[in-house]
Amino acid sequence: MLTTRPRGTNDILPGETEKWHYVEKVLREICMEFDYQEIRFPIFEHTELFQRGVGETTDIVEKEMYTFLDRGQRSITLRPEGTASTVRAYLEHKLYALPQPVKMYYIGPMFRYERPQAGRYRQFHQFGVEVFGSFDPAIDAEVIALAMNFYHRLGLKGLELRLNSVGCPNCRPKHRETLQSFLEKDLHRLCRDCQGRYERNPLRILDCKNNQCREITAGAPTVLGSLCPECREHFEAVKEYLDEAGIRYLIDDRLVRGLDYYTKTAFEIIVNEIGAQSAICGGGRYDGLVESLGGPPIPGVGFALGMERIFPALESQGISIPLENQLDVYVIALGKAADRKAFQILLNLRLEGIKADKDYLRRSLKAQLKTAHRHNVKYALIFGENELEKGTVILRFMETSKQKEMPVDEALDLIRKQMDKKIKM
Ligand code: AMP
Repeated sequence: MLTTRPRGTNDILPGETEKWHYVEKVLREICMEFDYQEIRFPIFEHTELFQRGVGETTDIVEKEMYTFLDRGQRSITLRPEGTASTVRAYLEHKLYALPQPVKMYYIGPMFRYERPQAGRYRQFHQFGVEVFGSFDPAIDAEVIALAMNFYHRLGLKGLELRLNSVGCPNCRPKHRETLQSFLEKDLHRLCRDCQGRYERNPLRILDCKNNQCREITAGAPTVLGSLCPECREHFEAVKEYLDEAGIRYLIDDRLVRGLDYYTKTAFEIIVNEIGAQSAICGGGRYDGLVESLGGPPIPGVGFALGMERIFPALESQGISIPLENQLDVYVIALGKAADRKAFQILLNLRLEGIKADKDYLRRSLKAQLKTAHRHNVKYALIFGENELEKGTVILRFMETSKQKEMPVDEALDLIRKQMDKKIKM
């Protein structure tokens, strides 16, 4: 127990974290280019925020939240997603008073009590963007382009962008009725979950993965077939923007996002190689959410993508993440006095921004050279008692194993110049 992590959580170990840093760097760069700014919100919120913001009838609220009473008897929930918190912060800090749209992004852990399996965890990480204050279909296309751009920049291929419109409060009631009358005769054959959804949220029945439910809903009327003129026009415009941008998509009229607040555009990005959990990104428009959380009627659009699902996707396509060398220089000291000198030089190298390390286990020269090789450093600086007396050091070029004794300052200068050249390249 003490040495086992909780089910559905992961340790991201040294060696892996570097890959995460790289992916996060790419995400932050893209956000700068697209003019999205980072928001950081609490890991936990008042439970009610998610009940209202995510929706009472969603799986997340019904069965997946980590909810507990704190010591002040308040109901607290670990955030299961980022949109509700972003809206809460937008309202709390009156960001609607700023020039609109407000374009934000977040990266961080989310918590859902799900059945853990490959690609599905209880603590996982999402990157997401949210845009507030614009009805413009071009913004829908922009957030989709941001996600696609990110995956392309990592080198992922074979992505499938699925696109749908789930309508709005004007067109959904009509669809709801036609859908309910279509399903009525088979109601008893639907799975237990869907029987519950029939009254509360029949749209979600279209999204059920149960085989019998899929059979029953084959040919069911979709919202796309009963969009109001405004939603239809919006959908057409989003498609035109994507066409213009050369972003290919598949219309998937059964794509229903699991969350209640979505209106109009809904989309998902799939990569097929990674098995059952093939959805790597999902999002859409939520024009009703800000108002339903007590704010002005301000539209929103965004998406969230799962960080954990990126790595298996990259692996399955044989794409390796370009990792920087951790170290440039390895400092080797032989003997106590030399070790003091080496330590001082080591700290100075680091102050100059050169990545350097030394041995702390008093290993033999051979063993220290082996470590230097393992770190793939370009240079080793070797201090022995002899060199210490003469004020010199042995500079070893690790690639060629050539080495030369020279005054310490000269060796440091040489390294500095080489590193400078590398930085400028
Ligand atoms: P959602 O917030 O449910 O729309 O999910 C958005 C994205 O987050 C999905 O496409 C997944 O890539 C990722 N995701 C959702 N739930 C999990 C989970 N339990 N474990 C890992 N990734 C997840």
